[in-house]
Amino acid sequence: MTQAHILGLPRIGSKRELKFALESYWQGKITENDLLGVAKNVRQANYQWQKDAGMDYITAGDFCLYDHLLDMSVFFNIIPTRHQQAISNPNSLLDKMFLIARGKNAKGDEATAGELTKWFDTNYHYIVPEFEQGLELKLNASLLLEQIKQAKSFGRVKVVLQGVLSYLWLGKGKNGFDDKLSLFEKFKNPYQQLITQAINAGAEVVQIDEPCLVEKLPAAWITKAKAFYEDLDFAGKRSLLNVSYEIPNLPLQEYFSFNFDGFHLDTSITDISFDNIVAALPENKFLSLGVINGRNIWKADLSQILQKIRPFANALEERFWICSSCSLLHSPLDLNLENDLDPEVKNWLSFGKQKLEELNALKHSLNNQLDDTLSTYLQQNQDALEKRRTSKLTNNVAVKKRLSSLKDNDFVRTSTFIKRKKLQQEKLNLPLFPTTTIGSFPQTPAIRTTRKEYKSNKITTKQYVEAMKQQVAHTIKKQEQIGLDVLVHGEAERNDMVEYFGEQLEGFLTTSNGWVQSYGSRCVKPPVIFGDVTRPKEMTIEWICYAQSLTSKIVKGMLTGPVTILQWSFVRDDQLREITCNQIALSILDEVQDLEKNNINVIQVDEPALREGLPLRQEYQNNYLRWATQAFKLSTSNIADETQIHTHMCYCEFNDIMEHIIGLDADVISIETSRSQMELLEVFKTHQYPNEIGPGVYDIHSPRVATVDEIADLLIKATNNIKAEKIWVNPDCGLKTRKWEETEITLKNMVQAAQKVRRLQIQND
Ligand code: GLN
Ligand code: ZN
Repeated sequence: MTQAHILGLPRIGSKRELKFALESYWQGKITENDLLGVAKNVRQANYQWQKDAGMDYITAGDFCLYDHLLDMSVFFNIIPTRHQQAISNPNSLLDKMFLIARGKNAKGDEATAGELTKWFDTNYHYIVPEFEQGLELKLNASLLLEQIKQAKSFGRVKVVLQGVLSYLWLGKGKNGFDDKLSLFEKFKNPYQQLITQAINAGAEVVQIDEPCLVEKLPAAWITKAKAFYEDLDFAGKRSLLNVSYEIPNLPLQEYFSFNFDGFHLDTSITDISFDNIVAALPENKFLSLGVINGRNIWKADLSQILQKIRPFANALEERFWICSSCSLLHSPLDLNLENDLDPEVKNWLSFGKQKLEELNALKHSLNNQLDDTLSTYLQQNQDALEKRRTSKLTNNVAVKKRLSSLKDNDFVRTSTFIKRKKLQQEKLNLPLFPTTTIGSFPQTPAIRTTRKEYKSNKITTKQYVEAMKQQVAHTIKKQEQIGLDVLVHGEAERNDMVEYFGEQLEGFLTTSNGWVQSYGSRCVKPPVIFGDVTRPKEMTIEWICYAQSLTSKIVKGMLTGPVTILQWSFVRDDQLREITCNQIALSILDEVQDLEKNNINVIQVDEPALREGLPLRQEYQNNYLRWATQAFKLSTSNIADETQIHTHMCYCEFNDIMEHIIGLDADVISIETSRSQMELLEVFKTHQYPNEIGPGVYDIHSPRVATVDEIADLLIKATNNIKAEKIWVNPDCGLKTRKWEETEITLKNMVQAAQKVRRLQIQND
């Protein structure tokens, strides 16, 4: 008999209950107990769904309040010195957790937050663990054990633990400590303790997540990890090694030789044949095959999957488990909550809960438990797929024609950067170290309330636009007072930088509740690209021109780039991503050209998601980088030399793709660097950045106010690697999550810091 399970579910709750509870807790509006109560209810629902969908194991331990790697740090008491020093109640797990995560906790303790970075090739962000000399681990996993106890009343429990290998690999040595490998030793006893406690609490299967095995790791790391797991004792319970997001970057035999009873394989990207898997799998081990894609929202082709996996079920029998390809963390929770979707497209979709049902159907089919209900379900699945294949919505002849008529010079700017720079400087006349922001300004409760009223038809379009224009006017005035050089309209009218465009482009649909966690309490609602993409009309012109009409300073037009729109959407899986991306690029180009026609001379095309789209397997990377770069260039070429194109990237390692970032040929790029203290700029020692660059000078994810000197020091540090005349001064990212008070103070500090380094620079010259 085949068994079914999942690797994890979203933690945020079907209506984002956890998000709201966290934010209330941080604001001191609810107590720790209230917060934990909400968390418990979210889990309750998750366990119930698994039970209802006939999962053979109830997966627990996948839940966390903020981030699963942060949990690992807090459970083992791996707390950076600056946080230890700042903490007023060292016994509170939550105080430690939120101090590290946000730089500030509910008690008002403050210290620079931990670094936030992207989780593999997803849009989830984790808090980078930090390791200092003399680390002493001490286990307190009460928050995890509670989950197991709670899940027990729903069925047999499988607990999810973070693997030590990935935890260490993804963490960073700090303050001179660089021997991460030596830390395996320190984990030995406390990690064993964690496993024993989890089993004592009721876990019948222990799933250990080691996603970093998708990367090519140094042999010494593999050897250490293997030895580490060799020594663990699972007290007769079954252990499962979970590697998701790709197949492990190891020969299968080697993967299967880790000391686990079972192994998960995510073949959603790279397929491995039945023969290869079965030949490599030792006879006493079981296989968990990820057959339902955990990262898209399309109905699976159940008939095709059944055909593929029946041989496994026949050959492996009890040793065959089916599963989602990865944790369902990256998928929205429940399609049933969507009441306003076009029914035609809705019928093609499957969210988290529906994926559980798909798994259940597959399991019963494999186990020959076909009844009428199941037959109908399978038939409906096939009908939906057939309708999608033949639907008019997925085919737009004009779009396809425009794409196929593109020429090489549609993908490059007419003149070199040197020539453009001269013309741009004449036009813009900016000072040394020009100051700007990344685009958004605080999305205040007033803005959100107005948008809600508009969406629920309580106010008219005219009233809504009027209210948002007032926000734009306010933002322009504030920026003038602060003394910034290049202003923005503030993006008040945008709920989200991708959804905003998704709502206006054809070929997209937006959901009302399809939330996915991005980091902590931050969620995004990716639009769904189901058809060919076009821009029926102008999308941003009215707002940007209105902002420009209010000031004599330069206003920068703000657009989201094609790769980011693609990356942060759920993308149709029936044509190459490259094609879809170019279709979006043409729509963005239309908008860039319209902005230009309206005398907007500085235009930012954000590509924060460029790096996260990088395939995990090296063999696919060059192709991706080729078409991603091309798409960006398609959206920003065919314009005047005088038009200055900015782009923005954040929260990822850029160093390994620097030559491609250079290849985008944006006139100015702003990138995140402040959380890593400009470490990211090291790369410019070796790769001279040819164009201009704004290294983020303060961390916008934290409410902490950066001082003038702090910012000035970072700028001076940046001049070690980049010529002063190429440096722009800006925060790390958009300011939408911040409050006006702290935003104003910090931006004023930033402007003063720029003035300070300008003076220093002039003295040096
Ligand atoms: N322009 C966007 C903003 O400021 C960029 C956000 C991002 O990089 N994620 O909000
Ligand atoms: Zn950003």
